[in-house]
Amino acid sequence: GADGGPIAFDNSYVRLAERFFERVAPMPVADPKLIKVNEALARQLNIDPDWLSGPEGIAMLAGNSFPVGAEPIAEAYAGHQFGQFVPQLGDGRAMLIGEVLDADGRRRDIQLKGSGPTRFSRAGDGRAALGPVLREYVVGEAMAALGIPTTRTLGAVTTGEWVYRETRLPGAVLARVASSHVRIGTFQFFAARGDTDAVRTLADYVIARHYPHLRGATQPAFALLEAVTGAVAELVARWMLVGFIHGVMNTDNMAVAGETIDYGPCAFMDAYHPATVFSSIDQMGRYAYANQPRIAVWNLARFAETLLPLLSEEQEDAVKLAEGALGAFQGRYEQVFRGGMRRKLGLTTEMEGDTDLAASLMEAMAENEADFTLTFRGLADEVVPGRGGQARAQFADPTQFDAWAERWRARLAQEPLEAEERCAAMRGVNPRYIARNHRVEAVIVAAVEQGDYAPFEELLAVTARPFDEQPGFDHYAEPPRPDERVLRTFCGT
Ligand code: AMP
Ligand code: MG
Ligand code: MG
Repeated sequence: GADGGPIAFDNSYVRLAERFFERVAPMPVADPKLIKVNEALARQLNIDPDWLSGPEGIAMLAGNSFPVGAEPIAEAYAGHQFGQFVPQLGDGRAMLIGEVLDADGRRRDIQLKGSGPTRFSRAGDGRAALGPVLREYVVGEAMAALGIPTTRTLGAVTTGEWVYRETRLPGAVLARVASSHVRIGTFQFFAARGDTDAVRTLADYVIARHYPHLRGATQPAFALLEAVTGAVAELVARWMLVGFIHGVMNTDNMAVAGETIDYGPCAFMDAYHPATVFSSIDQMGRYAYANQPRIAVWNLARFAETLLPLLSEEQEDAVKLAEGALGAFQGRYEQVFRGGMRRKLGLTTEMEGDTDLAASLMEAMAENEADFTLTFRGLADEVVPGRGGQARAQFADPTQFDAWAERWRARLAQEPLEAEERCAAMRGVNPRYIARNHRVEAVIVAAVEQGDYAPFEELLAVTARPFDEQPGFDHYAEPPRPDERVLRTFCGT
């Protein structure tokens, strides 16, 4: 490392003014034990996986002590939680220990989650329970394997301490890697205090870090708003294309880099229905599957509000500019979603009626409780004579699939690709393996109740290759039997 240590920290956020964060000290836990180190990610960050799995690495992952160059801080942020503005949230149980430049020269945060109380903890204990740590690890890595922008997990440890929620649970700490932890809520923190200088500093920081091509733009705040709008539109479209439901799209859980962040009561859908909700605390369905694009726009509007003073001195002009930039959402969203749907259906050309074709399929899927993942995966086999049947089998009334498939085949007849080639292309975008919610739940139960991490390891390994046929692991592709269904994911943090 830069100072001869095991990690070449290159910290930038801690160079911002004091009001952006609070410096924190290590808050050691009793008996840290390694759950797992993400070796590939460690190497990508130029960290030796053997060091990270050793005593010093484990001490770091637990927040017990840090290598040279670490500068632990808790970041300040605010946010709208379920539509209600909370002027101060912040890292109440997390600390950024530092930043590194990865093998591609990209700046990445290393943050501990569950590392102890900070001035932002409010009533919370600053800790995390093992279950949610494993969920974040598995689902985040599954998202990364699907090619969806996301925070990653560098490693996780158990603490040897209990955390007290509804029940007593084993504690754990997760080391999270992110392009940054700047959220819409970070901007809101300063805007709510009328601190326009800080908003400007943050905007400049985010441009330099995430959107460097915008440096020197004549209207930097406008350019930033447009860029973040585009990034979030693309991100949410990509969630929609794999049936992912974030679960807590509060503005503090929306990274301005356009990465999926904060895996709480999230899940991939099994049976498709647009109103699907997993979060136990989302009683109104605010963050239901089909609402996600709308909510993203709502969140971006809150982001825009923080930038108004930078957009123009005239309020009216600022609002017009903001509306213009936010207007980019729809186009970008539709471009990514419709393009993605076309690829999922095996279409390489663009024709009128494609959007309607996709929408008709989804309607029939919803009516028939068809499994989201297996329906699309099955379509890939459907294009090769003699291989099909799996998509149709997802439909309670298979004749509804037949009626749709007739239209689809007519459309495919206008396409250039050969069957095998099309099947391969479709398999490359329609995953066979997602981190199904009942599997995630089983991973958690085995670890928490039996100290058995074999299911965790196996689910991680299977979902790391979502598009490959993995003989012998077919059961991981299957939706839950009725008695295995997990319809609620508890926020239980
Ligand atoms: P989340 O719902 O995970 O996005 O968290 C919302 C806010 O609550 C953030 O400011 C967190 O830091 C804080 N928080 C969540 N759990 C805890 C905890 N156990 N102790 C302290 N703060 C917490
Ligand atoms: Mg959060
Ligand atoms: Mg959370």
